[in-house]
Amino acid sequence: MDDHFNYQNKQLHVERVALADIAALQGTPCYVYSRAALTSGFRQFSDALQGRDHLICYAVKANSNLAILNVFARLGAGFDIVSGGELQRVLAAGGDARKVVFSGVGKTVAELRMALEADILCFNVESAAELDRLNEVAGSMGKVAAISLRVNPDVDAKTHPYISTGLKQNKFGVAYTEAVALYRKAHAMPILRITGMDCHIGSQLTETSPFIAAVEKVLVLVDALAAEGIALEHLDLGGGLGICYQDETPPAIADYIAALLGALQGRTQKLILEPGRVLVGNAGVLLTRVEYIKPGEEKNFAIVDAAMNDLMRPALYDAYHDILPVVRETENDTLPQAREGTNAKSPSVFEIVGPICETGDFIGHARELAIAPSSLLAVMSAGAYGMSMSSNYNTRPRAAEVMVDGDQVYLVRERETVQQLIAGEKIIA
Ligand SMILES: *Cc1c(COP(=O)(O)O)cnc(C)c1O
Repeated sequence: MDDHFNYQNKQLHVERVALADIAALQGTPCYVYSRAALTSGFRQFSDALQGRDHLICYAVKANSNLAILNVFARLGAGFDIVSGGELQRVLAAGGDARKVVFSGVGKTVAELRMALEADILCFNVESAAELDRLNEVAGSMGKVAAISLRVNPDVDAKTHPYISTGLKQNKFGVAYTEAVALYRKAHAMPILRITGMDCHIGSQLTETSPFIAAVEKVLVLVDALAAEGIALEHLDLGGGLGICYQDETPPAIADYIAALLGALQGRTQKLILEPGRVLVGNAGVLLTRVEYIKPGEEKNFAIVDAAMNDLMRPALYDAYHDILPVVRETENDTLPQAREGTNAKSPSVFEIVGPICETGDFIGHARELAIAPSSLLAVMSAGAYGMSMSSNYNTRPRAAEVMVDGDQVYLVRERETVQQLIAGEKIIA
């Protein structure tokens, strides 16, 4: 558990605020973020990179709430975006377009145009076809586009197959063996200015070795290009550093950076990194309330008011999230206190599930908790790929989002209403 989430007097707190008070104020389900945790993660990166020309481009897709983007922008962050929508979020949050890198395999003409208009730092080009399209669009606008090619280094990131991106069978980046030829082609296009090379091999990586293997392969290409007179100004080594959800032991940020810097010895290029999950994952929780207890023949179910539309990771990746009681009965048990007057149960093992009509709609399997209807639970480590992957399946308005700063509570996104959901829909004559 992140330091900024802990029990004080049997009550789970975010910084100095009790989660139970937030639930009373904003209802559930509700995402709650700690500003101090966000700041601390970012500072670990910038401290470890001190003295080295660098730019930390927060990967917006991990959590794109404007308040979060603004906290990072004020700390000096740049941003890694994967859509025109994310660019608009960055600008709305006070981010600097000159610190934006644009990744993604499917950039549309409209998105390229928008990013050229905003004068972003660099396009991370992922295919030969994209190179041609960017050349054409920039040319038609009378602009020069700064580019880097995303190289697929073909290394095994040893993570979940859905979030592994650096193998040659994946859709991402330019094939390693074709990269130099494509750089030559780009070099001959006067409208494109080659500024760097990038790679991103996957997410939730818990070992340093795949990163280093990728860096070494990237450097071989960098040298091959230099030998042909194509000098690069920056190296963008992507994101992907994992966090602890259960019992993973990812390297500390400082150790990961030290290993990267070790592999980059003697290199003077500006270093760009694109961390997402590691900056926000353990800085947020999803607050939810038990609606029903449903004893079953084989399993007991606790039906909560959060569901797979709010937090998709368990359904999508079979991901594990710790589930903690917001109020515990003794100083060190992990069991929630039943509310007075409800049918309190002694601890037993529950499937923690949502109300959605899918068997895949679960938050956690086989959790030992003493749950009663209306108990509050905190789904931990939910700050990354939680709200940003949420949907309106089952016409469920999306959760509210709150940011805590010390003893202050800020509503940073209102709970959605059904009126908002149906606003664009029409009945035909
Ligand atoms: C998703 C993504 C990231 C961030 O990945 P994390 O695992 O959240 O750090 C960085 N770069 C690119 C290109 C991405 O697609």
